[in-house]
Amino acid sequence: MQTTGIHHVTAVAGDPEANLAFYTEVLGLRFVKRTVNFDDTTTYHLYYGDETGTPGTALTFFPFDGGRAGRPGRGQAVATAFAVPEGSLDYWADRLTDADATVEGRHTRFGADVLSFTDPDGQPLELVAADSPIDPWPGGPVPEEYGLRGFVGVTLHSGDPEATANVLGRLGFTRVGSTTEPDDGADRVRFTAEGDHATVVDVIHRGPPRGRPGVGTVHHVAFRVPDEDTQLAWRDERKDAGQFVTPQTDRQYFRSIYFRGPGGILFEIATDGPGFTIDEPAAELGSELKLPAWLEDERDQIEASLPSLAAETGPATTPATMDGGAGE
Ligand code: ZN
Repeated sequence: MQTTGIHHVTAVAGDPEANLAFYTEVLGLRFVKRTVNFDDTTTYHLYYGDETGTPGTALTFFPFDGGRAGRPGRGQAVATAFAVPEGSLDYWADRLTDADATVEGRHTRFGADVLSFTDPDGQPLELVAADSPIDPWPGGPVPEEYGLRGFVGVTLHSGDPEATANVLGRLGFTRVGSTTEPDDGADRVRFTAEGDHATVVDVIHRGPPRGRPGVGTVHHVAFRVPDEDTQLAWRDERKDAGQFVTPQTDRQYFRSIYFRGPGGILFEIATDGPGFTIDEPAAELGSELKLPAWLEDERDQIEASLPSLAAETGPATTPATMDGGAGE
């Protein structure tokens, strides 16, 4: 039983408008879904990805305007890496600097060029010059030759790297090598899943203190499975391993189960389908607030409780729907 890599990464943001502007206007991702956190409907759940939010491309956020800043660290995924074409990192360093993003540095890791930076909330991100079968979103402001092409993977900070490696092994990841961090010499061990993109998980051993959840940190990492039956088999496997795992949950765009990995890292296993076009056409993704059927009765109340999020910043980046972005 194997996962085929990373399905999505979910993080905590501050101001939703600043979040939307950075991911669509600076990074050039597509705004693929505007919905709410189904477990807390006063908070948005914003999804950014490729044209249709293909598994392995979607970075998603729960924005809490004025929320408490977190601190990335032990017990968390601490960096999400996107693939960009070879030779594009000079463009990105300039683009990010012009956008007042914090560029942390550039280095070579496992033979690939890496640019490290943070989003407006201090969320650590990386661009890695790497091949990818994912097409960049052509409707954004970034020229296609530089566009983001889905995830390479994530870096985890673990207080118990052997236990983390064991779980990754059960998930179908294989250890492929190790290197040392340029700043402090810590070991970075690389694991990869069998798949064609978003297959990399790096594990770095970190001592205390633990990372602190909050704005600017990753909430969870979701791994891919093809369907619900595979997911349920996975749930049995985790239970047999003595792990607490949640019941299968309907997340509208996929089904999910969650469990805490060693050291407290929250993992999800998500199904590839049904995907983001289940409740709006591909051309209109992200243009209005979508709610699952079980929340539609509460729509007026939910809309009234949400902070403002300018409608035009979503579909306006999509030439084909320029006139159709009425918003909610
Ligand atoms: Zn998730």
